[in-house]
Amino acid sequence: MSITERHRGRTALVTGGSRGIGRAVSRRLAREGALVAVHYGHDEAAADRTVKEIETDGGRAFPIRAELGVPGDATALWSAFDRELAAYAPEAGPGLDILVNNAGITLPRTIEQVTEEDYDRVFAVNAKAPFFILQQGLGRLRDGGRVVNISSAATRVAYPAIIAYSMTKAALDHLTLSLALQLAPRNITVNTVAPGFTETEINPTLQNPQIRQALSAASVFNRLGAPADIADVVAFVASDDARWVTGQWLDATGGVHLGL
Ligand code: NAP
Repeated sequence: MSITERHRGRTALVTGGSRGIGRAVSRRLAREGALVAVHYGHDEAAADRTVKEIETDGGRAFPIRAELGVPGDATALWSAFDRELAAYAPEAGPGLDILVNNAGITLPRTIEQVTEEDYDRVFAVNAKAPFFILQQGLGRLRDGGRVVNISSAATRVAYPAIIAYSMTKAALDHLTLSLALQLAPRNITVNTVAPGFTETEINPTLQNPQIRQALSAASVFNRLGAPADIADVVAFVASDDARWVTGQWLDATGGVHLGL
């Protein structure tokens, strides 16, 4: 697909941009002209692959590494971002226009199974990291910018099998709401995009044909979401077309909860 102009001249940071949904978001934003910082935590090869794919598509991107969920993670992420941006694209100037808080881990455990360690870990990666990334990112985000938080449809229904994970995403949902109000005077919009069952590596049980079929059947379209299904929504919310939308929770589940 050829490059369109919608995000031309903008700098974006996609956390967890190396794989899964984040990879699709990075590719989509870059295809529309954004310069994209593809963040990853551990899998350097995946980040390099995503950057190469973007370059092959005619876009511009660079990888940045920072492990999230550990003390000082946000500081490490922003120093890597500042350093690599200045090295890769000095003409873009410091700062960014689009921040996508996408990196996350799952925790498929019930309340009886979750240990204190599990709980701290999933909150550290999914809720604490985006909070401090935003806290330290506010000065870097340009006026008129966009924040998109990737939550989950699991915050809107009872889902005991992933209770602690769902609680982390509920915290993220609130971050969207409060910051949307606070950042409005700067014309920055803050929104949540909530995927449903999406085909990525986060959920290894998708390899099981029965589970796959059951999760596909949850959508009114009778299929799993593709990462691109989510990326298209994120690219819209991040665009000027969505300038009048802020503080919202956008369902990107393929209608999982439409009927009884
Ligand atoms: P994924 O395929 O497992 O990719 C996760 C991404 O996050 C990778 O780039 C990974 O990089 C990064 N990441 C994970 N833990 C990290 C850490 N501790 N430090 C730094 N980076 C880390 O996951 P996904 O399915 O695309 O999920 C993306 C987001 O969508 C998550 O927030 C998830 O909760 C949400 N979501 C997914 C689904 C679904 O069904 N897939 C449904 C609802 C919501 P490294 O591998 O390099 O660490």
